[in-house]
Amino acid sequence: MDVTFFTAWIQEIIRVLSINRDLLTRLDAAIGDADHGTNLDRGFTSVRQALSDTPPDTPGQLLTLVGNTLIRRVGGASGPLYGSLFRQLGKSLGDAPEVSLDDLAAAFATALESVTRLGKAAEGDKTMVDALAPAARSLSSAAREGLKPGEALGRAAAAAAEGAKATIPLQARKGRASYLGPRSVGHEDPGAASAALILSALHP
Ligand code: ADP
Ligand code: MG
Repeated sequence: MDVTFFTAWIQEIIRVLSINRDLLTRLDAAIGDADHGTNLDRGFTSVRQALSDTPPDTPGQLLTLVGNTLIRRVGGASGPLYGSLFRQLGKSLGDAPEVSLDDLAAAFATALESVTRLGKAAEGDKTMVDALAPAARSLSSAAREGLKPGEALGRAAAAAAEGAKATIPLQARKGRASYLGPRSVGHEDPGAASAALILSALHP
């Protein structure tokens, strides 16, 4: 997996988040402040601009640029959290021109740690972590089993989607939705939904 592969991932994220902007905003309207879709769409539109201004040479450079742009451009809780996810992915991949599934699984695990260090959310708190953590586990076990990247990414995307749906019956313990207490039950967490979309874009 080289810079072309990861650029295609980011382009697909931009496309998928823009198509689902209103859906994400509706999810956030139910248990937050109705800005998640527009926050991410704005951030990733800036990412598109940044990529065309300075096309990166390596996967690490690309993902670092994505992270920095999200931190700069996305207001709200999700900006710094997704920003640190992508920045840490970039940092872990370093300046390698080619990334193996092992490398990606290890980088993803570290990136998830930086999200939980920053946001202090555990699985079950009804946040993006509920989609990111199962995806990270799925990538690690796929790498251990020696699966082909395509198959591994498909499984990770499915694990993230399942994790996002599983937030519906949960009561939020982190972020804006936690202010609602038991009234947050019965709605999918918007950040878990966007994380599942981001993972689904990685599946070629
Ligand atoms: P805001 O809540 O500031 O309006 P967004 O609407 O863009 O920001 O993002 C909301 C999403 O951010 C939530 O659905 C949740 O998944 C995620 N989130 C919020 N707080 C945390 C946290 N502490 N840890 C992990 N994810 C969080
Ligand atoms: Mg919001």
